[in-house]
Amino acid sequence: MLNTFEKLKSISFPKVMKKDIDTLQVNLGYRCNQRCVHCHVNAGPTRKEEMSADVIELLLQTLAKRKIKVLDLTGGAPEMHPQFCYLVKKARQLGVHVIDRCNLSILLEDGYKHMAEFMAQHQVEVVASLPCYLEENVDKQRGDGIFIKSISALQILNTLGYGRDEDLKLNLVYNPQGAQLPPAQAELEASYKDILKERYDIDFHQLFTITNVPIQRFGSTLLSQNKFNAYMDLLQKSFVAENLHHLMCRSLLSVDWQGYLYDCDFNQMLDLAIENKNKTKKHLRDIVNSDLDHNSVRVLGHCYACTAGQGSSCGGAL
Ligand code: SF4
Ligand code: SF4
Repeated sequence: MLNTFEKLKSISFPKVMKKDIDTLQVNLGYRCNQRCVHCHVNAGPTRKEEMSADVIELLLQTLAKRKIKVLDLTGGAPEMHPQFCYLVKKARQLGVHVIDRCNLSILLEDGYKHMAEFMAQHQVEVVASLPCYLEENVDKQRGDGIFIKSISALQILNTLGYGRDEDLKLNLVYNPQGAQLPPAQAELEASYKDILKERYDIDFHQLFTITNVPIQRFGSTLLSQNKFNAYMDLLQKSFVAENLHHLMCRSLLSVDWQGYLYDCDFNQMLDLAIENKNKTKKHLRDIVNSDLDHNSVRVLGHCYACTAGQGSSCGGAL
């Protein structure tokens, strides 16, 4: 795989300052029932990396002591972590809002068919990737048969009240198939709502449009097709300074499966960690009882993906 890191390092980006941290976005590990070709962590059924019980406890202590409001769980398939239900229950007891970044198909797998109901009982917000409302496009990006499974899982979630009750948030994620910016979020959401309702009787709350970040597999594809410079030009020409105020990295910490800290998931993928004064990687254990001591976000050229046009974050347009 070709690496865009050196190119991104040579592109300057305005300074971004951290605010109070209200969200921990946590990667529980790389095990997944799917094996999508575009997967940025190369997740799959045979991956063994997963957060240890000790780090899960540190995570819970951090939620409590730092009064974190949101726990945003990613993977792999987060539901496949053996302590997923334990972590969700404990976090909810602390009053933390929990988000599960769900691939939908896991909800149909043996051993995980109870998960949708469990999440509904604990009012876990479900955020699910559905890159298109057309079967052919979804299967091309995520694998044969994934669209139909996604539709079945969304119907199960709807039956439980997800996407229909205000307390059971169901949000979908769209990202462009190639080197373009996403279309306007509100208009695309309206099209998704009309088509999914009409064809499959599916309801959901919001559609989040996310701009492709020129790193990992997407970055490698851009380099191999000689499109990296043109895509960076597009992102830089579409820069909107107002978006700097609303960047998710200002109030979020990203935590990898070993407990190390980053400003966001993209920086985690670039191994651009938050560091201690002695240049070692900062860990959850370093912030349980003391200040984060990290005021400015580690920005590089890839950050233009978050400030282009309507802006982009894990919660959609800014
Ligand atoms: S579902 Fe998500 S985590 Fe799993 S392989 Fe696909 S992209 Fe990776
Ligand atoms: S990629 Fe986006 S969220 Fe991450 S540090 Fe850059 S601007 Fe912030």
